[in-house]
Amino acid sequence: MPVFLCSIQSSNTMKKTLFIASILFLGACSLTLAQDHRHVKVNPTNPNDTEYWEPSITVVTPGAIPSDAIVLFDGKNLDNWESAKDGSPAAWKVADGKMTVVGGKGNISTKEKFTNYQLHIEWQSPIEPETVKSQGKGNSGVFMQGMYEVQVMNSYQNPTYRNGQAGAIYKQTPPLVNATSKMGDWNTYDIIYTAPVFTTNGGVETPAYVTVIHNGIVVQNHTKIQGTTEYIGQPLNPVHGPGPISLQDHGNAVSFRNIWLRKM
Ligand code: MG
Repeated sequence: MPVFLCSIQSSNTMKKTLFIASILFLGACSLTLAQDHRHVKVNPTNPNDTEYWEPSITVVTPGAIPSDAIVLFDGKNLDNWESAKDGSPAAWKVADGKMTVVGGKGNISTKEKFTNYQLHIEWQSPIEPETVKSQGKGNSGVFMQGMYEVQVMNSYQNPTYRNGQAGAIYKQTPPLVNATSKMGDWNTYDIIYTAPVFTTNGGVETPAYVTVIHNGIVVQNHTKIQGTTEYIGQPLNPVHGPGPISLQDHGNAVSFRNIWLRKM
């Protein structure tokens, strides 16, 4: 009998607990709905109930360079750039509206640092003989926040490892397709980048993501960046804040032009 009573009491307690939990759950749901749909009635009865007008959407004038873009290189000088190594003046060549890697001068970085953005950049592989192959051919790179490389390479009829060719997240994710222009022709990258978020104890709360459109063709579709794009070894995940756009000196005379960025 005591066991039976205990069972009834447990059952009643459980019902009460479930009832309270249900009330709390429904309350939380209502609160969430109220927060997520601040401007919208929970039970709409006509079309206007699900429309909101304020604040109005910011107007951006489209064009070759959108009106809210930060121009990082307009073909004239490297005033917005510096040596990635020591912050000294960027020492790449500027001529004919483009900047070109000068082998041995090192990577260059924007002076300004960024978090989330849309980046437009155009690049051109140098004319190199057929004897130059694989990773030695037109190699450079565009680094998000100075540490996550989207590979730049002459991948036109130039086999190399899948995750090391143009449009790859270097040593991590190959491009979906190879959209590289012929050697000497210009390529465009439109890159949408979301920076990683770190926990207070140094873990990764949300990783970085990147979408890359190469010559108008999607080659990375909201790809998770696993960490730093190391030449040797596994990706690392150091805690960091905003970082520069960096361009790689890999010893090949790769050129860049028309570089602009929209913060998001
Ligand atoms: Mg590279």
